[in-house]
Amino acid sequence: MATNISFQIKNQQDYKKPAQTRGHANNLEHYGGIALGTGSTLVARQLVKPADKLYLNKVINSMLNLEKYIKPKEIETLSARMIKENRLDKVGIRIIRDSSTASKIRSEQLEKFIMETFKKKRVDVMLAGLLTEMAVLFNTLFKASPIPISKKSTIDLSKNSFYSKYGNFVAIDKLKGSIFHELGHATNAHKSVLSKLPLKVQPFGAVAASFMLAISATYNPYKKKKAKSKFSQKIDSLKSFINKNIGMLSFAALSPVLIEEAQASIRAHKFLSKQPNVSKAAKNAHSKALAIAFSTYIVGTTLEASLAKLAVSVKDRFLKYRANKT
Ligand SMILES: [Zn+2]
Repeated sequence: MATNISFQIKNQQDYKKPAQTRGHANNLEHYGGIALGTGSTLVARQLVKPADKLYLNKVINSMLNLEKYIKPKEIETLSARMIKENRLDKVGIRIIRDSSTASKIRSEQLEKFIMETFKKKRVDVMLAGLLTEMAVLFNTLFKASPIPISKKSTIDLSKNSFYSKYGNFVAIDKLKGSIFHELGHATNAHKSVLSKLPLKVQPFGAVAASFMLAISATYNPYKKKKAKSKFSQKIDSLKSFINKNIGMLSFAALSPVLIEEAQASIRAHKFLSKQPNVSKAAKNAHSKALAIAFSTYIVGTTLEASLAKLAVSVKDRFLKYRANKT
């Protein structure tokens, strides 16, 4: 259920990348701005942590609440029906009942996937490989995460479901009631080119959000402009645009996650609502759980965008203060 949308910008250590400014004094000042921006987002992140946990508990409870209305056995029968209806059995979707087995299989499959990426030269594999390489590069440059990002990106988009040509599965551990939503993801991944799209562009969006943040970090709007070529003027105005609109741009880049989640939930809702033997109370409890789960994604995406905005505005205020002083 909990897709990690923020793997690259999770640690604002992205800012460790030195600014390409000339002169040591200038560089130091810019570092000061970046450090302040980073620090403020770290503080903000700590502040929202308890609320985050509370929210997650709410999601878990609402899913468990569903089991009051539909017995586990019935959930099983219904999910078998949903698998058949969406022809997920034909593409080899299976349900794995505990998450530790699921993560073991997942890492084996990821290894195979990465190995093949480097061997084969097929376009789609190359594209996926490029993403993996970009993620690895990012990880090396910014040391953003102790876990190799390659293992978290590209195809491992969700903790509870996994799709690749090496195998497909939906893992259900505690959140049994979320099975219909997870099968919704599985259907998205196999139904049509269009339904696959949000899942496919998600990693691009996350990488784009990180790059934009890195560009903003190295941009100083208060630096005295020297005469420049037309090309570097254009680059400057692009950087300035990104710097000014970082919040909105980050939100846009991360929004495929919202489309994917909404699409999965709509499929789950549609399926359950047309089952004659499921009580109205159960259908309502299911819809409520889906709505609560979806709201966490909206909150998460908004939070990432706001933190990017906060980091940039703190950095800019500091740079403005320094520019006025000298
Ligand atoms: Zn989901």
